[in-house]
Amino acid sequence: MKPKLGLEMRPANTQEVQLVCNCCGQPYYPNKSWEDRLRAVIFGTERFAICPLCTQSPPRDVFQDEAHRRRCLAEVRRLQRLFEQAQSSARNKSRRRRTK
Ligand SMILES: [Zn+2]
Repeated sequence: MKPKLGLEMRPANTQEVQLVCNCCGQPYYPNKSWEDRLRAVIFGTERFAICPLCTQSPPRDVFQDEAHRRRCLAEVRRLQRLFEQAQSSARNKSRRRRTK
């Protein structure tokens, strides 16, 4: 086994895991479920005003960035697919209950 560099596995100072959002580049705490995020995006005010990945409002320059908007749309599509999957599995469950 190779010796590991001490830097690699250094634990964070805080208890919570802080990540940097892949979508808007802001630090965030990944404590929101995808349902929360989808809700925030769908019932959010302006399009792209809330980052679908971390549900924070991006800074002005990120908000206007085309690449960020593409990442947002991709993430929203992913959340919507999760939503549809959850819907159809809920439907299947209730169908099974009814026929019993
Ligand atoms: Zn974000």
